[in-house]
Amino acid sequence: MSGSEISDGVWQFRLPLRYNPLGYTFSYYIVKIHTLVDAGEESDEARNALKRQMEESGHRITDVERVVLTHLHRDHIGLADFVKSVSGAKICAHEITGNVAGIEQNWRTLYESIREETRSFGGSDFLGLLSRFEGSLSRAVRTVDIDTFYEDGDPISSDESSITVIWTPGHAPEHICLLDADRRTIYSGDHVLPVITPHVSLHAYDEGDPLRDYMESLEKLERIEAEKVYPAHEFAFEGLKSRLTELRTHHNSRASEIVSIIGTGERTVFQVASKIKWKSRPWSLMPFWVKRMAAAETYAHLVFLRNRGRIREKVIYGILFYGNI
Ligand SMILES: [Zn+2]
Repeated sequence: MSGSEISDGVWQFRLPLRYNPLGYTFSYYIVKIHTLVDAGEESDEARNALKRQMEESGHRITDVERVVLTHLHRDHIGLADFVKSVSGAKICAHEITGNVAGIEQNWRTLYESIREETRSFGGSDFLGLLSRFEGSLSRAVRTVDIDTFYEDGDPISSDESSITVIWTPGHAPEHICLLDADRRTIYSGDHVLPVITPHVSLHAYDEGDPLRDYMESLEKLERIEAEKVYPAHEFAFEGLKSRLTELRTHHNSRASEIVSIIGTGERTVFQVASKIKWKSRPWSLMPFWVKRMAAAETYAHLVFLRNRGRIREKVIYGILFYGNI
């Protein structure tokens, strides 16, 4: 894998992912502000790729003054500590990451949370299978200490250049994009990808309405002047506005699909999820952990619809049921 100078003074590094079909995370080095955007996953392969591609670019890891994390998923934060240890760079992320760290310290184990959620989503059939993972699951800890917290609209500047932080919650509550207005370019992290629809999900043990947040974050980007998109996966592309429209259309039609799947019945999250026409593969071919992701995505849509008064929710013996109004 090699890096490339994607535009004048901006390097795109391709950092391999080991067990992820996406294949790699892009990290961008913006020379004028000595800023690395996202830091791949933690592995020898990714670390070596970063070292080599940085060297090929004619710059050095010691030049990096800050690592900006678009969000705290493991395929974005992996090498932040490594870069910091080499260069003394500050690790920067949205201010809400302070709260995310707090949520992670929940007293319940991941296994218990997943078990409870599986039951409330109407997936009791999976509990036997799930019990095989008891003991091997502990709450995945995201260990990255943030030095600088950003708010929406904050500039990241040097004497020569400046980019702006745009808070875009949805894929993750702390997700940010970076706008380079001079180049009409947005570093979009996982918020906007060219082909894949970014995963927007909600777990029963978390709060909020991430799909509403995601849709509002898409609208927010409608209002900025940018054409070029530098995402964290797949490939860089032009045409931000039309991609935003596609993503909004996708979620609106998925929401309508869910309303018609519910029909006149009372359905659990798993019942609805099993009837959705998933693009990646049919429900019957999904392993449990993929089904669980699909159910969390479905739940985000159900909560979005419920909050808009389009469907109603009932809880019977701890199981969530959805019906049309
Ligand atoms: Zn990612």
